[in-house]
Amino acid sequence: MPEEERDGAIARQLAGWFAVAARDLPWRRRRDPYAVWLSEIMLQQTRVETVVPYFERFLGRFPRVEELAAAPLDDVLALWSGLGYYRRARELYACAREVTTRSGGRFPGGGGALRGLPGIGPYTAGAISSIAFGRREPLVDGNVARVFARLEGIDEPIKSSGAVKRLWERAAALVPEDRPGRFNEALMELGATVCTPRDPRCGSCPLERVCVARATGRVGELPVVEEKRKVPVVAMVAAVLRRGDLVLFARRSEGGLFGGLWEPPMVEAASLEGARA
Ligand code: SF4
Repeated sequence: MPEEERDGAIARQLAGWFAVAARDLPWRRRRDPYAVWLSEIMLQQTRVETVVPYFERFLGRFPRVEELAAAPLDDVLALWSGLGYYRRARELYACAREVTTRSGGRFPGGGGALRGLPGIGPYTAGAISSIAFGRREPLVDGNVARVFARLEGIDEPIKSSGAVKRLWERAAALVPEDRPGRFNEALMELGATVCTPRDPRCGSCPLERVCVARATGRVGELPVVEEKRKVPVVAMVAAVLRRGDLVLFARRSEGGLFGGLWEPPMVEAASLEGARA
């Protein structure tokens, strides 16, 4: 099939599938930049089911970006508590303040201007620009990368610079003029619900007939993922110090892991062993 014809078929098949298969998620009922931005930041490295109640609580408490910007940072961090990756909450707050002070609470529509805001990278910029503003901007997240690696038979390691370049080029070539946001959402949805990391449901996939991995029997081999670096494990010792009803907490320094959050006084277990020796 000629490439142009194949690209058109991919866009059509995806659109038809998404119209009936899309999950009903709260951020899909609102298409304004604030809600799209908030949901996309929360969804980074976090499961949809975990995000839903946080998204609703944030919008209940801060219905507009100006209200989020005007709140004390500690209130925002407290509401974020349990969602993890607290740097996102700090960048969310910094971004809300910048959008509010610079442009009265209006997000810019173009990907380039969005990428200049705190915490907004190419993926989030593509999501806001295409979904909220209807601009023909591509996006690639983990789900989209997996779909494209299989759909196009990309066998370079998925995080290598060569593969990343190819993925973005394919995403840019495929995103249509007409309803680009729906197309991007459909791709992400396909990766989340059908073209899953394990046991993809190729028999139910709208792209089965144009998928290179399916045609060549390489679905189980793609994407190529390099081994992850080992996560260091650090043992900590914490002291719980009480006086009456009071418990002592200290604030972590701003820069590092969990920067600015409160915790009981603690030190690395290894440093205590050193002191004892
Ligand atoms: Fe993924 Fe299978 Fe669909 Fe190919 S046919 S895009 S491997 S679910």
